[in-house]
Amino acid sequence: MKGKEQNKVKSIYETCLLMLCMAKMISCPCGWTLISPQGNDDIKKHIQIHAKDHHPGLTETEDEVEKMIKTV
Ligand SMILES: [Zn+2]
Repeated sequence: MKGKEQNKVKSIYETCLLMLCMAKMISCPCGWTLISPQGNDDIKKHIQIHAKDHHPGLTETEDEVEKMIKTV
């Protein structure tokens, strides 16, 4: 019984680690920073919204956005 509980705790811990590994961070040159555990697609969505709201004249290519994304 005790061993089973320990296994459960271990697998939750491993899942958390996995999620942390997948977390992505993006920093805009204006100082705006976002961390998302949901990966690149989510972060691209948010940077597009941010760019539209705060930098309407700025057009970033997919490549440039990709370079701004860091894994945390
Ligand atoms: Zn910005």
